Amino acid sequence: MSSPTSLKGSCTCKALQYTLSLPSLDEARTTLCHCSSCRRAFGTNYGLTAKVPLDSFSYKVTNGDTPETLKKYKQKNGVTREFCDNCGVFICEYGVLPLRHVGSLDEPEKIPPKGEFFCKERASWMPEISGVFHKREIKE
Ligand SMILES: [Zn+2]
Ligand SMILES: [Zn+2]
Repeated sequence: MSSPTSLKGSCTCKALQYTLSLPSLDEARTTLCHCSSCRRAFGTNYGLTAKVPLDSFSYKVTNGDTPETLKKYKQKNGVTREFCDNCGVFICEYGVLPLRHVGSLDEPEKIPPKGEFFCKERASWMPEISGVFHKREIKE
């Protein structure tokens, strides 16, 4: 296994900057999800997130303990989403599982996807990613 490593990310306006510290890059369980909740939240036809331990993630703060432009939205299904109030970039979500959004990382290719969820809802024009697991929903 590789040594402890950290990945940096930010929103477009850079008001929200964060570090993801992982024992190894393999700890980040990156997956695509084709469900309707992810599609709406990401504004595209799938969501791309990395499941990581909650305490591996920290925002850069200058004063106080919460960045000024950090906004949270709690959805009816219990999922909380965090985004930048200034530029609108969606940074992460958590409910049962903490999920970080890969697109806001400086080097997203360091943690490529390991699988796809909700393939039964995949857009008909979108091909499968080869070499990763595929689930029709979450478990199956
Ligand atoms: Zn921003
Ligand atoms: Zn989803």
